[in-house]
Amino acid sequence: MKKTVKDIDVKGKRVICRCDFNVPMKDGEITDDKRIVAALPTIKYLLEEGASVILMSHLGRPKGEPKQEFSLAAVGQRISDLLGEGVIFAKSDVVVDDAVKAAAADLEPGQIMLLENLRFRKEEEKNDPGFAKDLASLADIYVNDAFGTAHRAHASTAGIADYLPAVSGFLIEKELNFLGEAVNDPVRPFVAILGGSKVSDKIGVISNLIEKADTILIGGGMAYTFIRANGFGTGTSLCEEDKLDLALELQAKAKEKGVELLLPVDTIVGDKFAEDADKKVVSCDKIPEGWMGLDIGPKTQKLYADVIKKAGTVIWNGPMGVFEFEAFAGGTKAVAEAMAECKGTTVVGGGDSASAVKKLGYSDKMSHISTGGGASLEFLEGKVLPGVEVLQDK
Ligand code: ADP
Ligand code: MG
Repeated sequence: MKKTVKDIDVKGKRVICRCDFNVPMKDGEITDDKRIVAALPTIKYLLEEGASVILMSHLGRPKGEPKQEFSLAAVGQRISDLLGEGVIFAKSDVVVDDAVKAAAADLEPGQIMLLENLRFRKEEEKNDPGFAKDLASLADIYVNDAFGTAHRAHASTAGIADYLPAVSGFLIEKELNFLGEAVNDPVRPFVAILGGSKVSDKIGVISNLIEKADTILIGGGMAYTFIRANGFGTGTSLCEEDKLDLALELQAKAKEKGVELLLPVDTIVGDKFAEDADKKVVSCDKIPEGWMGLDIGPKTQKLYADVIKKAGTVIWNGPMGVFEFEAFAGGTKAVAEAMAECKGTTVVGGGDSASAVKKLGYSDKMSHISTGGGASLEFLEGKVLPGVEVLQDK
């Protein structure tokens, strides 16, 4: 267990908090402020406890140079509007300079300052100790609340903790609670639903979950590599010829561990990769030449839904089909619906999986939707995230 802001005394302290303010912007305007809103509970808590707060984040990809279109100025304004309190924006092309240091030193309890985009400095992504030390010099305590970058060892996510006591904010705490408990201490039966486009992207996730789950349900593009590996034709479906042996190895490993690994029994094929493709349902051992599998079929949907509904814990990564096309969103929808009906803990990880759940309208029906695409995948692979590892243990 990692310490959170609640485990330390922040009164009268200057706290530097890494947030994820990487919000979508258009023509200098924030088009969606969900990430800013999500960061408020930690910020408010620190202010209420009598800390002064220095916020920092990256935004977009300025590639280590100051580029005004990636300035965090608009984010500072939005935080101020949402909190109803002024936010001092530490405008500086180099993020930390003498003026910024002086302003940080002058902060009174209850005051908030926001630094400029961390990625204006190439030292950020290089985890440069000098830059990490400069950031640390502004404060007494470091809080990481940016789960989406926790899988990266950057100056603001990892290096800074060499110089300051480090704890998590509420967002990272929640991610660790849900993902951690689901993977490491699941209520059984523990069902993992794995889909998405390619097996090669998910080898680590499948291998790790084979060690933990009771049942693994395979869907999405990766299913066809398994189907081909078992000796059946897959038409023009996504199939990784060089991963056939791997698919068989994973199946063998599952068998050896007593894990049930289910493949689709039927699939919805289209005659092209398009919303308006001609489509039909076929059995997975009879995918016709010239057709591509774009979703799991109705029998598979029912089979998977029955397993999901009875689960104590469900983890889902990877859409069951090309949900971006309405015509092939049925399998992903069926899985989301079954998770909504499941009485156990239901966790969604992965960037596209989270957007599928939101798009299909099941967001508030899940126990937890992870906010970190890449970070949640690395977590599911069983990796230790650098931005979490540096935090103090309880
Ligand atoms: P996540 O981001 O949740 O980890 P992935 O990136 O692995 O998920 O996969 C998401 C993509 O997989 C989606 O864009 C979806 O269209 C695609 N996909 C799902 N099923 C298929 C399929 N049968 N053929 C091709 N692409 C698919
Ligand atoms: Mg993805």
